Amino acid sequence: MDIPQILTPTQLIQLMQLVKSARRCVVCAHRGPDGDAVGSSLGMAEYLRKIGKQVNIIFPTAFPDFLRWMPGAADTIIFEERESEARQLIKEADLIVCLDFGQLSRMAEMGAVVAAAKAKRICIDHHLDPDPAVADVIVSLPQACSTCELVFRVIDELGGYERISRSAAACLYTGMMTDTGAFAYNSSRSEVYVIIARLLAKGIDKDRIYRHVYYNYSEHRLRFVGYVMNEKLQFYCGHRASLFTITREEMKRFNYLRGDAEGLVNMPLQVKGMKLSVSLREDTEKDVVRVSLRSVDDFPCNEMAARFFNGGGHLNASGGELPFPLSEAVKTVEAAIAAYEDRLKAK
Ligand code: 5GP
Ligand code: MN
Repeated sequence: MDIPQILTPTQLIQLMQLVKSARRCVVCAHRGPDGDAVGSSLGMAEYLRKIGKQVNIIFPTAFPDFLRWMPGAADTIIFEERESEARQLIKEADLIVCLDFGQLSRMAEMGAVVAAAKAKRICIDHHLDPDPAVADVIVSLPQACSTCELVFRVIDELGGYERISRSAAACLYTGMMTDTGAFAYNSSRSEVYVIIARLLAKGIDKDRIYRHVYYNYSEHRLRFVGYVMNEKLQFYCGHRASLFTITREEMKRFNYLRGDAEGLVNMPLQVKGMKLSVSLREDTEKDVVRVSLRSVDDFPCNEMAARFFNGGGHLNASGGELPFPLSEAVKTVEAAIAAYEDRLKAK
């Protein structure tokens, strides 16, 4: 079974030319990189290395602990930890590949450094409405399950399928899996499974990848999940919406590791009739509150995130940030839920 081409003939030529003429490449993704950001970066970087490019992967901030096992993850550079080296690499690059984001601001401080660099830029992303200024060539397909799906398709259309190794296939599979909650949502297009079949043909063990990602936590994390669901979860609008908060003190108490809160915000949606789940988490480095939103059906998280939380994202999964204390942030969430009460209560 073939999958339709995503690149237009012009894009294909542009990409081929950009890749061909590049020697030093930087591959980067958004701040707080998740499985899709890390997986697509590792997969793309390996492909570029295979065709003779010198490649560095630079993430604005660190990735979660549960992704450390990914082949090549240890060789990535975290901008905020090795800033001068990262700045130099970005400055010297002649091609920058931007993955899993559509606005340079999603890289925080690193965005301005990338914007100022002389390199040509390629963006491959599945978020809605990429900024036309994000790159010279933008491959955008919001219906894709993940950026990893798109990276696979781009490499394939550039004629590189044979060059995808087992490790790169494992990385691309990981992002497809994590961005769909292990194929529980946003994954009903048949292409997704054609691609998975082609990744499996590379010899990956998908069951093992699942365990590496989802069965790889500490005891503390499991107890933390229990604590949050039992003691912190509040319901609104007759169990149509919910909110929980996580403070720095609680993270300390449960020996929080980066990534330990991942997936928690999906859990309240297990309650029958729930349409919207919101979480608020005190940032460990800056004095801001990180907001995560998840919804089902047509409830627009991204619209709510843009209106109330300085953020955005996908229809059913969005995020944002509030620059004030948790108690104030709770009031903002309650105001947002009140503003959407009619839609939340509608059948
Ligand atoms: P998470 O809740 O996992 O942090 O984010 C879920 C999704 O929301 C991400 O995949 C991303 O699409 C989007 N998102 C998260 N934070 C932001 C943000 O600050 N700005 C925008 N525009 N989107 C965000
Ligand atoms: Mn993604």
